[in-house]
Amino acid sequence: MAHLLVIGGGIGGLATALLATRRGHTAELFERDTRAPGTALDRDFFGWRRPTVPQASQPHALLGAARNLLRDELPDVHQEMLRLGARERHELDWFEVRPPARPGDEDLVMLQARRIVLESALATALRAEAGAVVRHGEPVTGLTTASRAGGGPAAVDPAEGDPAGDDPVAGIRVTGVTTGAGRYEGDLVVDAGGRRGGIERRLGAVGCRPPVVERHRTGLAYFCRWYRLPAGTDEGPRRPWAVTGGAFAGCAVFPADNRVFAVTLFVHTADTTRSALRDPAVFERAARSFPPGEAWLALGAEPLSGVLATASLDNRWSALVDERGPVVSGLVPVGDSITHTNPTLGQGTSLALWAARRVARTAHRDPASERYAVEHHTWAVRTLKPWFDFQVVADAAIGERFATRAGRTGTAREVAALFDCALEDPEVMRARARVRHLAQPPEQAYADPEIRARVARWLAARPEYAPNAVGPDREEWEKLTAG
Ligand SMILES: Cc1cc2nc3c(=O)[nH]c(=O)nc-3n(C[C@H](O)[C@H](O)[C@H](O)COP(=O)(O)OP(=O)(O)OC[C@H]3O[C@@H](n4cnc5c(N)ncnc54)[C@H](O)[C@@H]3O)c2cc1C
Repeated sequence: MAHLLVIGGGIGGLATALLATRRGHTAELFERDTRAPGTALDRDFFGWRRPTVPQASQPHALLGAARNLLRDELPDVHQEMLRLGARERHELDWFEVRPPARPGDEDLVMLQARRIVLESALATALRAEAGAVVRHGEPVTGLTTASRAGGGPAAVDPAEGDPAGDDPVAGIRVTGVTTGAGRYEGDLVVDAGGRRGGIERRLGAVGCRPPVVERHRTGLAYFCRWYRLPAGTDEGPRRPWAVTGGAFAGCAVFPADNRVFAVTLFVHTADTTRSALRDPAVFERAARSFPPGEAWLALGAEPLSGVLATASLDNRWSALVDERGPVVSGLVPVGDSITHTNPTLGQGTSLALWAARRVARTAHRDPASERYAVEHHTWAVRTLKPWFDFQVVADAAIGERFATRAGRTGTAREVAALFDCALEDPEVMRARARVRHLAQPPEQAYADPEIRARVARWLAARPEYAPNAVGPDREEWEKLTAG
């Protein structure tokens, strides 16, 4: 069995440590933040400033892929989330009557909760594991490596760099981590430091060749505000569909736990109306100009936050294997440190959990070896990269539409029709939901001749169909956002 040193106590780190200890490994987790998620959800969600995880206050859609992994591998965590107030929503419940069940339908379920609910449930379960040690307020500051001369491990001060760093071609073997409190040795270091973890810097400091990074800038800005449904109103409206995109702006509602929900507006970063959306009154007017925003806000919800903005997120893929082989062994990434994706498809948590499970399942197989590093990379390219690529293509399409306001022309008519047809046709909804919940790649689900024929028939019956025709037109939008 292996001893894992896990950098970062976010979703990827907590899940890796938990899944690994449940398989008989031991894990030591290092988290920069001094505070741990508890079960006072509102206090931890609204009252905890988390500069190292700025997205923690943004709504998180927990897709079927994440929910199914929890249900199958960590049923106690899944149950604890439900106990804390998370809700499940079956995609086919969009229809007045759920269509007769088919194999696989049981996986098309969204878990609706604030991110803190997942963190809290994971942290509670991890605290109970005898094989786990969690070190809060102890950031990892450097890596230890095996001495190239074949002796014991060398600790490297990032400020001074690698004493043996004269051969940048050879892969470096990481043997442990250093923190302000000392050095720790293990069989495998797992980097779950997230999008701001800075592992490249630490690897550079020990003489590693740089990771191979693919980066795509997205031109979207998000504005979110949290609300609570009035007492006695346990459910929001079942319709309209929670996410709608117009020609130059979109609106999404994220139902969460305990009557809490978020409304998000998204526009292009170059949109001149963008800064006005930070004003709660403007935000609310603009949100109510979209059907889901209006349906939810009309219920008399109480605001729980100001308008929280975030923008210019990129899609970033970071590989620790280049054309010469692994740049490092003894260290593998999970979560956002391999791939962080812009949130329009809500994939990040699911991909982090998949990687955590992969590490836990394989950590007994000589994890310090170069072979292990290559296998982890190969797995990530096969399993995670197609979803990263899908996100890149989806964002490019939205960015282009919002930048050019081309939503009501013929642009991407078939793609838009697929989504609108799904709202009326359970077969197309199943295909859409399989893609949404990461159960089947889009090139398979949408290439199915039956699905294509259904969408084509739907379109043929609607010659006047205009894609993305929701929300206000530009003139109305400028009035709404004019202060
Ligand atoms: C605006 C936004 C919205 C999102 N919406 C969704 C969504 O709807 N659905 C979804 O599934 N995903 C969403 N995501 C993505 C999701 O948040 C991430 O994919 C997920 O948090 C990845 O988990 P992680 O553990 O890799 O990183 P994180 O959760 O960011 O955790 C990293 C942790 O590492 C710690 N750390 C960093 N460096 C060190 C160090 N040197 N030593 C010790 N600790 C360190 C940090 O303090 C932090 O706690 C969204 C992301 C953003 C930005």
